[in-house]
Amino acid sequence: MVEYEAPLRDYDFLFNEVFDVTPTIKRLGYDFDEDFLSMLAEGWADHAKEVWLPINQLGDRVGLKFENGEITMPQEFKDAYKQGIEGGWFSTSTKPEHGGMGAPIFFQSVIWGEIATATNMAMSVLPALTLGVYDVLNEHGDQVLVDYFSSNLAQGHWAGTMCLTEPHAGTDLGIISSKAIPQDDGSYRVTGTKIFITYGEHDMTENIVHLVLAKTPGSPEGTKGITMFLVPKYLPKDWKSGDLDGLSHDLMQEHNGVTCAGSEEKMGIHASPTCVMNFDNSVGWRVGDLHTGMKLMFQMMNQERLATGIMGLGLAEIAYQNSLAWAKDRRQGRDLRGPKDPKEPADNILVHPDVRRMLLEAKVNNEGCRALAAWTGILLDQMHSDDPDEVEYASSLVALFTPIVKAHFTDVACETASTCMQVMGGAGYCTEYAVEQFYRDVRISKIWEGTNGVQALDLAGRKITQNMGKNLRHLMWPLTEFIEENRDIPEMLEFNKPLHQGVRGLQQLTLLMIAEGQANPHFLAAGATDYCRYFGNVLLAYMWAKMAKKAMEKKGDPFYDAKIASARFFFKRIYPETVSLAAKIQSGHKSVMEYPTEMF
Ligand SMILES: Cc1cc2nc3c(=O)[nH]c(=O)nc-3n(C[C@H](O)[C@H](O)[C@H](O)COP(=O)(O)OP(=O)(O)OC[C@H]3O[C@@H](n4cnc5c(N)ncnc54)[C@H](O)[C@@H]3O)c2cc1C
Repeated sequence: MVEYEAPLRDYDFLFNEVFDVTPTIKRLGYDFDEDFLSMLAEGWADHAKEVWLPINQLGDRVGLKFENGEITMPQEFKDAYKQGIEGGWFSTSTKPEHGGMGAPIFFQSVIWGEIATATNMAMSVLPALTLGVYDVLNEHGDQVLVDYFSSNLAQGHWAGTMCLTEPHAGTDLGIISSKAIPQDDGSYRVTGTKIFITYGEHDMTENIVHLVLAKTPGSPEGTKGITMFLVPKYLPKDWKSGDLDGLSHDLMQEHNGVTCAGSEEKMGIHASPTCVMNFDNSVGWRVGDLHTGMKLMFQMMNQERLATGIMGLGLAEIAYQNSLAWAKDRRQGRDLRGPKDPKEPADNILVHPDVRRMLLEAKVNNEGCRALAAWTGILLDQMHSDDPDEVEYASSLVALFTPIVKAHFTDVACETASTCMQVMGGAGYCTEYAVEQFYRDVRISKIWEGTNGVQALDLAGRKITQNMGKNLRHLMWPLTEFIEENRDIPEMLEFNKPLHQGVRGLQQLTLLMIAEGQANPHFLAAGATDYCRYFGNVLLAYMWAKMAKKAMEKKGDPFYDAKIASARFFFKRIYPETVSLAAKIQSGHKSVMEYPTEMF
């Protein structure tokens, strides 16, 4: 049986003790208190555990069926999705006027996201994408589009997709060839082929709303010429011209020229369709101004990138919990210092330092990432403050954290899933125990929403110099303040000193990347992945030092003592990788770029 307990105690510690979120959400105008939010989290955790988790392995085994251009999802998935709508579980952060609950963004993005992906990643991406479409539409769409589509998207009755990738254009979206031709009535006709479209076709909802990137005639070359269009699978029944004003939600029977030409067979997330989508003269409406498509899609992608990082965390957590449960039962060998259970034929494998190391790496990385996710979630809410200074501060940090949460969390999560399989020996490799599914499912998180290599380039080549270096300055304030505050506290020394060293190292490496990168972009690009990982480690170090500080107030309680011990493990056994990362970055690009290409 697959084990899972949502980490609600950890969320309580993070949101209410480490980050003390209640005054912030009150100030931001939310009518939610601590008790209501923890009830909401419990309710969602119960639902996900009772409804989503039991069908996760079934989704992996049965997958979906593609026939004659249509995708049929497992009946159990359709039933579970329906229950999700009825329970309001897809509309916690959407606006009350669209039938949503209007809860703080951090609830949906962090708590909902981690629990959803842990219990059923294949299912979780459907509401996550839909929410992304809803948010972009609400921020940038014409009022008529908002009025027509929002309520159904907000509540999950209609689903959303993002259609960027084309057969010849993945990372390089500037070369897409999908076209949108303007019509006299204000609508467009969209034509092109998109590939790898998650939930591009399915029978979970009545309609599917695609956000499609395309180019209008005469557009500038490259990404500057891209515009975003909303293209529904089905048009309203009474639709005749470009106008949607006042139309009913009854839908036409025939497709709006949107067809699915196939669904990929893939390594994991077998119950998440990955579709080739053809748009043939499909009716669409522009979202935002002409040629702003990339900017708008980046807004959605940034949201999905954070969601992807948290998805990595969700899968790493469930992999950890299951490998731990298995390890607690498994007896092999003896403690090297003498038998622990002499009456048994062998000791439990937790006596072995190497097994403990593996489990601790998983646990401590997960909890560190969860803390950074919590901070980022609160910042997402602060981005909507009335105070422009708070908006600027929060936006800078979110810009900086987005590639790190996406890349660092998912790199670590893939390592964690593999480590958890290792803890279990041969059982870990077998389907019965599910960890092999988590290992396969989590692997996509390093690839989609922009590969991790591209995230690292975004961090090193853009985010650290963006806004005249303000992003980084906004981060250095709380970091240096924390280091100063704790400088003379003896019990914080073991955490504060390495944190200080890491922050100094980060500053030096940043200057090196900027200076050398200006002279030779290959230097910056060759070091970007290691720089991103270094940065991720420093942020987790800050999180662990903060958590240790809080935990010291309640020493003697096992939960808090474990936090201090975990912080100690992080600083002694994970954080030292920053030393080798720094050496790799400093070694520059030559060993990479001077290697003769013909010798590969
Ligand atoms: C299961 C799945 C679901 C997906 N869902 C969606 C979806 O819903 N919507 C959608 O639009 N797309 C989706 N994608 C596409 C996904 O976002 C792309 O696969 C991803 O962005 C990488 O593009 P690519 O596959 O073309 O790889 P490529 O761009 O060909 O990259 C190949 C390699 O080259 C590297 N590389 C490429 N360019 C650069 C560069 N400039 N600098 C450094 N390195 C570079 C990459 O990091 C990578 O390692 C999905 C893909 C999969 C597999």
